[in-house]
Amino acid sequence: MGINEIINLQRKKRIGIMGGTFDPIHQGHLVTAETARSKFLLEKVIFVPSGQPPHKKGKVISNKEARYLMTVLATSGNPYFEVSRVELDRPGESYAIDTVKYFRSKMEEGSELFFITGADAILEIVNWKSVEELLECCTFIAATRPGFDLGALRDKLLEKLTVNHLQKIIPLEVPAMAISSTDIREKVKKGLTIKYLLPVEVENFIYKNNLYKN
Ligand code: ATP
Ligand code: MG
Repeated sequence: MGINEIINLQRKKRIGIMGGTFDPIHQGHLVTAETARSKFLLEKVIFVPSGQPPHKKGKVISNKEARYLMTVLATSGNPYFEVSRVELDRPGESYAIDTVKYFRSKMEEGSELFFITGADAILEIVNWKSVEELLECCTFIAATRPGFDLGALRDKLLEKLTVNHLQKIIPLEVPAMAISSTDIREKVKKGLTIKYLLPVEVENFIYKNNLYKN
């Protein structure tokens, strides 16, 4: 056995989860997942499109099969990316804690789980169901754009979390942060170009299925 195999055996398995509405998935999500994978030596990143996101109640979101298919189309070129239907097929509201526990139960003993989110979402997680338990089950990777005020984020989080829990949130600078699904939906509605903001397969899917027109 060579030294690399020995190192690999000793290294804990690390799995990333990227949850989102993905309405639609875009380069911000993809660049973030890939940056996190390479920086944190993740074995894979599992994209988990949400069923009924509790924080998007009252907002119209595209049907879940469309969001699932767009996520599959966008990730198919990356051998380290997978898509899970766990939240789509679970009835009722989607909570991160249930999803994290589900993946924990499937993982080998001693493996580590990383939950990848944008820094905006991190500010919301302190209001999520069972946030302490969540931070004990996994490490959060919080994507920020370069120049983002991490000190202010830390102060805000410390209002709600202990230092120990805060240590389970690791910031990660990602350059493609300015892209958002909201902006893409608005552009489609106005007939403006969305080229290069998301993979061309997803762009074609949006037009073919007449998404975001009204
Ligand atoms: P919307 O505008 O509808 O809220 P969104 O672009 O924020 O959509 P979501 O599906 O809500 O996309 O986000 C899923 C996850 O990806 C969240 O953790 C969010 O913080 C993160 N995220 C969203 N946009 C980016 C981006 N440009 N770069 C990195 N992470 C992002
Ligand atoms: Mg969002």
